[in-house]
Amino acid sequence: MLDLTVLYCGRETGSMPHRYGRALRGSLTQGEEPHRVAQTALSRRPVVVWNMTRRCFLRCVHCYSDSTNQCDQGELTTTEAKAMLADLASFKVPVVIFSGGEALMRPDFFELAAYAKEELDLRLTLSTNGILITPKVAARLKAVGFSYVGISLDGIGAINDEFRGLKGAYQLALQGIRHCQAVGQKVGLRMTLTRQNVKDLPRIFDLIESEQIPRACFYHLVPSGRGHSVAALTPPETRHAMDVILERTRDLVTRGITVEILTVDNHCDGPYLYLKVLEGERKVMSPENGTLERSTIASTRSRARQVYELLQWNGGGVASSGVGLACIDWAGNIHPDQFWMHYSFGNVRERPFSQVWSDLSDPLMAGLKNRLPYLKGRCGNCRFKGLCGGSLRVRAELATGDPWASDPACYLTDDEIELGHAPRVP
Ligand code: SF4
Repeated sequence: MLDLTVLYCGRETGSMPHRYGRALRGSLTQGEEPHRVAQTALSRRPVVVWNMTRRCFLRCVHCYSDSTNQCDQGELTTTEAKAMLADLASFKVPVVIFSGGEALMRPDFFELAAYAKEELDLRLTLSTNGILITPKVAARLKAVGFSYVGISLDGIGAINDEFRGLKGAYQLALQGIRHCQAVGQKVGLRMTLTRQNVKDLPRIFDLIESEQIPRACFYHLVPSGRGHSVAALTPPETRHAMDVILERTRDLVTRGITVEILTVDNHCDGPYLYLKVLEGERKVMSPENGTLERSTIASTRSRARQVYELLQWNGGGVASSGVGLACIDWAGNIHPDQFWMHYSFGNVRERPFSQVWSDLSDPLMAGLKNRLPYLKGRCGNCRFKGLCGGSLRVRAELATGDPWASDPACYLTDDEIELGHAPRVP
């Protein structure tokens, strides 16, 4: 996840410590940084997406878990789920994301959430279609102590409903957001960018403002599950969408609106954002601006450098799937991330997650935990691979069968990544 509010707008949000390791003004010394980055990224415990059920009453076109409205007999029992949560707590994972299917369809949802919070003190967030969030459910989510509820909205009105396969889904999900807000439950929206809905981006930003939604995550498409049949954006279209997101984010922040805007699942967003900040810096220092105060030039310079350092600390793809991101599915299978359900490292019924995650005998696990030397093609020769980490390995694997090939969703040009040039830092 890339926090644009922090990186592009220089405004601190709640995500600073865990996503970027420090406050904006607390920059480390230049010589200290790379060593600290390498250690911190790889020793990080993973955020765990737990797809607690495969069941869902919607039929979203891009659903990575290919969910249906049927009980899956292989789902972990309540007792098994509690044992798994206890192991995650003792492994000190930073957060467990309750997801699905539709997580709220699991009959023991609140029993498990209360156990995770009250007995284990786990940090919980919820990923949901929002439709089942009545005022009463919102109050229970708040009472249990969910840190955040992310509700999927893939467009305004009919566009969202087409995505979801249910007429009226948009209004119901919006009601879910409002019910959360009414009880003080932190809530935000999640939108996956495709050719079908990208034109709705400006209207989604209008909605964020009019509904005072405090957080929005924009997901790049990963073609797994039913997502493989969805029309993905081309690299230039993605670039344009990013420009819209960046521009609208800056507009909101400039007007004093408190909001967190993040992009997810394409780590080349990091270098792209860095290049945008650098471009701004070059404009400030151009001959036409010769009368600028020295202090203004210095602060702009340090801003680009600071963005670079924060991205480096975060690690991008280096610290994601198989390292800082994990997935456990409804049946207890452990995956590098939620899009890699076709590959399992083991099952929590047979071995605790904490053991499986630390076991490097699996070649994919070992590779993901030390991926830079394995990267091939554009990613292997990219000057930004230390910031981006070759983005999403599962997208490369889905496209080519090789997890170390280039991520086909990279939208930086060959010139921007200085293909074939020696690596350098700014
Ligand atoms: S070429 Fe690969 S490593 Fe470089 S920015 Fe693109 S996705 Fe990231």
